[in-house]
Amino acid sequence: MDVSVALEGLNKAQREAVAAAPGNILVLAGAGSGKTRALTRRIAWLIHTGQAEPYDILAVTFTNKAATEMRNRVETLLPQPSSDMWIGTFHRIAHRLLQVHWQEAGLPQSFQILDRGDQLRVVKRVVLDLELDPEQYLPKEVQGFINTRKNRGLRPQDLDPPEYPMQQQLIKIYQAYQQTCDRAGLVDFDELLLRAYELFRDKDSLLARYQQRFRHLLVDEFQDTNDLQYAWLRRLAGQDNYMFAVGDDDQSIYGFRGTGGPGNMARFKKEFPKVTECRLEQNYRSTANILKAANALIANNNSRLGKDLWTEGEAGAKLELCAAYNEYEEARFVVERLRDAKMRDGIDYRNNAILYRVNALSRVLEEALNQAEVPYRVVGGLRFYERMEIKDALAYVRLAALPHDFVAFERIVNTPVRGIGSRSVEELRNQARASGASLWQTSQEAVAQSTLLPRRALSALEGFLDLLQNMAQTLRDNPLDEAVDLIIQDSGLQKHYEKEEGGEKAQIRAENLEELVQAAADFEVWFETNKEYLGELDLLSAFLSHAALEAGDPEADAVDDQVQLMTLHAAKGLEFQQVYMVGMEERMFPHWRSLDKAEELEEERRLCYVGMTRAMSKLTLSCAQRRRLYNAESAPMLPSRFLKEIPTQLIESDEPKDAVAPGFLSAASDADSSAPFHPKQRVRHAKFGVGTVLNLEGQGSHARVQVIFDTVGAKWLVLAYANLKAL
Ligand code: ATP
Ligand code: MG
Repeated sequence: MDVSVALEGLNKAQREAVAAAPGNILVLAGAGSGKTRALTRRIAWLIHTGQAEPYDILAVTFTNKAATEMRNRVETLLPQPSSDMWIGTFHRIAHRLLQVHWQEAGLPQSFQILDRGDQLRVVKRVVLDLELDPEQYLPKEVQGFINTRKNRGLRPQDLDPPEYPMQQQLIKIYQAYQQTCDRAGLVDFDELLLRAYELFRDKDSLLARYQQRFRHLLVDEFQDTNDLQYAWLRRLAGQDNYMFAVGDDDQSIYGFRGTGGPGNMARFKKEFPKVTECRLEQNYRSTANILKAANALIANNNSRLGKDLWTEGEAGAKLELCAAYNEYEEARFVVERLRDAKMRDGIDYRNNAILYRVNALSRVLEEALNQAEVPYRVVGGLRFYERMEIKDALAYVRLAALPHDFVAFERIVNTPVRGIGSRSVEELRNQARASGASLWQTSQEAVAQSTLLPRRALSALEGFLDLLQNMAQTLRDNPLDEAVDLIIQDSGLQKHYEKEEGGEKAQIRAENLEELVQAAADFEVWFETNKEYLGELDLLSAFLSHAALEAGDPEADAVDDQVQLMTLHAAKGLEFQQVYMVGMEERMFPHWRSLDKAEELEEERRLCYVGMTRAMSKLTLSCAQRRRLYNAESAPMLPSRFLKEIPTQLIESDEPKDAVAPGFLSAASDADSSAPFHPKQRVRHAKFGVGTVLNLEGQGSHARVQVIFDTVGAKWLVLAYANLKAL
């Protein structure tokens, strides 16, 4: 292979970036302009031209999926695969460093990762232990407080003196939380980054070693690096190494997480020696109509670095807009479109994505998809490794391997129910805290000395400890997948779910547990072939870390032909032939919490821009006039301002075409249109043809009618717009 493979199929601007002379380079460019492609090619270029060995390269991407893809792509561009290159997410890379340098980082060798769900449980525990009111110190908010501080590199002792009592308590909780984790050898996601940063900050010789090694740092989605990640990169780069950063200020969407955001691009230009800036302006992903719409939308933001994005591609289909009566109709509309696309145009389900602002929106969509038997997967949200049964089962494995893991202990000590009630656990916890021992040790002592708990609880506890010791033996004696299988069987979890939930739910959990055994088997194979990438990790620890890190990743692979559902955040960097953005309503998107802050509103708009620019050939937007949210009553909604920022000539408002959309979007007139119709009446609709009225409901502008059309079946229509003719 020769150098040209690195430059093949690139435009001039891309080639210039890829083949730029050694130095610090910032590629600032819009969505779909080939940033990720350029970054991958840069790696190949450096190696082909002899400027770097794989060993010199560290590449950071935003998700595990992106990292895997990048490794695969780079490997096809190289003469031989190389395990010397580090490619991964910030979290994976930090984990790898800590795994090697656990001692310098002040961690036990067997430290475990605490995913966000488990972190929340620990935070809640700490709040209760401090005898604070979890209603006042909402665990979610406390978790946010802690993580934001960590993302800025701040330990409790680094924080400014509190200005008000609540702040003082929050700092106290942060402190106690950290002590709890440290004692148990638990490291949360942000702690991974913070420890890795501190490692470089405090250990000069270690930093020097890595500085000498990683001559080339390459960072994708640079606009979303946070302060801590930036600081970590800055140290690693030192004065002599080169950074190749690609990003798009218009796609910065993690401001809420304490992201330095676009600000980091400015810092990069200022703080790194001699930064060359490259711009890519040609978009290769989307049709002209989609691109124009996205450009028009983002032009409404004030704080932009400003970029032009154009395409040579065709105009393509217009954007489609559906203003549905409520979320159910919206879901039906989307499902209908998906099926049409599959049946009529042969577009596989997997090439479609449904994107939404908040996870809660997926439920109604999922139901509609299920009903229509359209296969789908929810990416992000509750992922495989976040499911209850998987976490329960893995807690058994974890505790068997590492008896002092108190998060695992608390999770399963009474799951399935074995007569160790919350009072007993409380006793154990208090005793453990007083003596500084782990829950496991405390339990062993209590059993040995017959103290602390009532007899029955003690004997249950003894049974639990024995069970876990047997499982530890199982782990030692068997290949990983068989051990996991045996542990699941011995845990009694399956029976437990059958009893608690029964039926289909328990069945699904059982299937997932089988899938976990399969996952362990797959992981063993993967581990064998990727050992070199993993540093010092043994198989079991690698598997457990893998599960924890996967649980934090907003992405997964789509193998089967399934529609992909995900939040807009999780869609970053991806592309799909057809994209549906649902829930385009004020307060939904832009999200109500962002409404009174100009900068947060701009972040919402960037998020909308990210969503729109995922689409290659077709973009469909939908909103509902009424929506039930967060268990509240179904409430009237207004169309999102973002819809109005898209030039109308780019939009075709569709079904119910001549019905809901136009009137609704010009802010729904309230004209009374009381029904001249009655059930069983025959009517004609311009698009659906002739049908029979089945039902009438609501009043005024909300009056609706259900009609069974002879050809297209039952539909609910808003009378005010449906333009029905009585026959
Ligand atoms: P995002 O901002 O969404 O992350 P990006 O700038 O990273 O987008 P890529 O994902 O690298 O863009 O590229 C977008 C699409 O365009 C991909 O399908 C890619 O293969 C294709 N592409 C990029 N550059 C070219 C090119 N020069 N010729 C043809 N196709 C290209
Ligand atoms: Mg990209």
